[in-house]
Amino acid sequence: MGKGYMGKILMVDLTSQEIHEEVIPDEVYRKYLSGTGLAAYILYNRIAAGTDPLGPDNILGFMSGLLTGTGVLFAGRWMVVGKSPLTGCWGDANCGGNFSPAIKRCGYDGIFFSGISEKPVYLYINNGRVEIRDASHVWGKDAVEAEKMLIQETGGHSRVALIGPSGENLSLISGICNDRGRMAARSGLGAVMGSKKLKAVVLDGAKRIPVHDRDEIKKLSQKCNKWVQFQPPFLPGSMMAWVGALMRFFPTQPALDGMLYKTLLRKWGTVSTNQMSIEMGDAPIKNWMGSNVDFDPGKSITTNSDVFKECEIVKYHCYACPLGCGGICSTKGTYAETHKPEYESVLALGGLCMNNDIDSIFYLNELLNRAGMDTISAGGTVAFAIECYERGILTKEDTDGLELTWGNSNAIVEFIRKMIKREGIGDLFADGSKRAAQKIGKGSLRYAMQSGGQELPMHDGRNDPGFALHYSVEPTPGRHTTGAQMYYEMFQLWKVIKKLPGIWPLYFKGSKYDANETKAVMGAACSKFMNVINGAGLCMFGTLLGAKRIPTFDWINATTGWHRTPEEYMEIGERIQTLKQSFNIKHGIEPKDNRLSERAFGKPPLEEGANEGRTVDIDTMMGDYWKQFGWDEKTGKPTAEAMSRLGI
Ligand code: SF4
Repeated sequence: MGKGYMGKILMVDLTSQEIHEEVIPDEVYRKYLSGTGLAAYILYNRIAAGTDPLGPDNILGFMSGLLTGTGVLFAGRWMVVGKSPLTGCWGDANCGGNFSPAIKRCGYDGIFFSGISEKPVYLYINNGRVEIRDASHVWGKDAVEAEKMLIQETGGHSRVALIGPSGENLSLISGICNDRGRMAARSGLGAVMGSKKLKAVVLDGAKRIPVHDRDEIKKLSQKCNKWVQFQPPFLPGSMMAWVGALMRFFPTQPALDGMLYKTLLRKWGTVSTNQMSIEMGDAPIKNWMGSNVDFDPGKSITTNSDVFKECEIVKYHCYACPLGCGGICSTKGTYAETHKPEYESVLALGGLCMNNDIDSIFYLNELLNRAGMDTISAGGTVAFAIECYERGILTKEDTDGLELTWGNSNAIVEFIRKMIKREGIGDLFADGSKRAAQKIGKGSLRYAMQSGGQELPMHDGRNDPGFALHYSVEPTPGRHTTGAQMYYEMFQLWKVIKKLPGIWPLYFKGSKYDANETKAVMGAACSKFMNVINGAGLCMFGTLLGAKRIPTFDWINATTGWHRTPEEYMEIGERIQTLKQSFNIKHGIEPKDNRLSERAFGKPPLEEGANEGRTVDIDTMMGDYWKQFGWDEKTGKPTAEAMSRLGI
């Protein structure tokens, strides 16, 4: 009887071309699960302190999840891991699509690459045979074209993860793609793949994934699916601006329930909340110095979710997903189709740059997906460049003649093309806003909105201080998929873990800004839980349905045969978080230096709009959060006691 995991990893040295398998003891899975937890266990010891992220000693891993391929719903995420060249910290990013089960069907929980190949190569695994193959013919091709070619030449059934030209050019804001441009975008790990001259990982396996109790998994999945299929009546997409405006207007706020978000996701996808987010102050505008007053979501076509829905040709589901928040859209111009742009991409390339041109958003979405460049970081970097131009820090001469003003979509498109190619001014900005600011000088760093060098996502900590906290304290700084007040509300963990604080159905918005122990407990719970989710390979959107409706812990028990409590799984999450933080300390990171940019936590506060007058007490929140893990509350460094308590 199996336990959901394959019990083996593959190690590939691209310098020597040596390939070997390693058996992972059961005990390791019991302590770290699989996915990013197992990866942290493996890489913590094997990447030496001070390793150059783009050098041969960095190790890049492709991980599947513990629950992937077992019949568990939402369990199709794959994760890429390594030392981030963008932040110098622990780097990970995850993505949906169909690549995750392919890793396990080849017999592995993870595939790791060290060394640097002399020429471009790809790894091909076909029913137990592992080969390093020449990739010269696809080097330079975009991620969609190269994927198609590699699938064709390997018989038509393979699953492929690969980089585009951005990763090949070692842009530090590059991601890794699968399924026609879906991207594990954050942490800049596409550049690590490029530095290794590894164009792609091509997998074609048929191994069975063993589990403990398939009937129980099926029962749990069927029950969960009923919740997913339950569909309350819709509002038209254009009404979401009103919902957001009401949320801004009232001094109280209802606790968010993932059932509502699930409904929105299912119909429109992540763009469903574009307008609401701007109105309520969740979406940053004009490089984080504007607001709903500057960028009216009722007037901007770029934010209306119905517009995205109308051009959807077919819905898109990741592997094992009953929800299907994705879609393939028809577009005008160069590309006939693109994945439906995500909330993050639309806001980063839209409101953040004051860009109202919907065609440019569709075009840039596909351009960046094919290039393998992170849309959040690309948008954040352009917004920074525009602010520099508007302030006279950059001149028309510096920008190769581009009139880089707010909302000039032609200039934005051309600027991003140059970033992808590292051409002219694009070379300076291809490594993100912080690197560019350090080279430009003239006080420009204060306009680069980032944490630890990574551009901030499209959720404003001045609206939900939980985002400001997690951008600053996570071992992968600047990430929006690890925790927030709104996630805590939707996870509803207190319904299965009694000692966690509950949330009143209606609460005063002002209470969100209290920096106290309760908030720290909530923040730490989000981080621990997301480590379990990323070990299991679940999609976070599924987990937002709530802990009673998404039986994460029961699914793991049914899959592995373990009999563990939710509290015990949360301790595993704590162990993984502590190990990732220890990775950063080993590599010389000072956690407090990852605090997000001052403007983004309200220093100085905005003078108008949804977040008017708000400043987040971020320093207190960071210390309180670290204390929850038993780390030093002043420095954020894990203590010897915490390490020993967790058996690290
Ligand atoms: S909810 Fe969306 S992102 Fe998550 S697994 Fe389903 S289709 Fe993929």
